[in-house]
Amino acid sequence: MTVYILENKVAQRVKVGTTNNTTQERLRAIRANWHGLSATCQVCGTRRDITGRARFNHEDCHMSVVMPKHPSNGTHATHPDSRFNCLGSGALPIELDTSLAEKYLSDLKTNHSSLSGSEKSSNTKMINTLEARIGRYKALGQAEGDWVIAREFKESGENVERLAHEILKGTLDTDAPIGEVFKCSVEEAVRAVEEAIGRLGGTVEKTSE
Ligand SMILES: [Zn+2]
Repeated sequence: MTVYILENKVAQRVKVGTTNNTTQERLRAIRANWHGLSATCQVCGTRRDITGRARFNHEDCHMSVVMPKHPSNGTHATHPDSRFNCLGSGALPIELDTSLAEKYLSDLKTNHSSLSGSEKSSNTKMINTLEARIGRYKALGQAEGDWVIAREFKESGENVERLAHEILKGTLDTDAPIGEVFKCSVEEAVRAVEEAIGRLGGTVEKTSE
């Protein structure tokens, strides 16, 4: 098990937790949950409640952080595996990644000059909508999604996590959209985890800065 400390500089919050998987995988799920309970398709903009389920699935939640299969609305590109499904099915939601949306936007632009009449005006509308959506989520990502790995303590366990939470409990952020979030600095969180490891008779192994 790994005890990790994540930092969100913009929100000035620190998260201390444990995982059996890689911290990178946890990070992806945490970013999704931090954004709220729904996810938005990169292609058609439809919203689906996927992280709500992930929230209660804790350790395995990274498994479900993709857009579920959803039908094409007839306007946007369809999935290579099925012309009935939207191209965004199975891809990361736009809250986490804008690359599919950007690729699709560039395809719409390339295709634009070959269109005329109502097809052209509908294409223009799609381009404008998509551009605005990409801009919005890129800005959001920078403002709120900015969780990064500050520190990892490999071979640490739930007891260390629990004790570190106890040490930090005065700074717990009870309003945070996800659990185990503290209003303290990374240094304070590191000290709490190191103290917890020490009190539990372990030695601190510095794995990453
Ligand atoms: Zn879609």
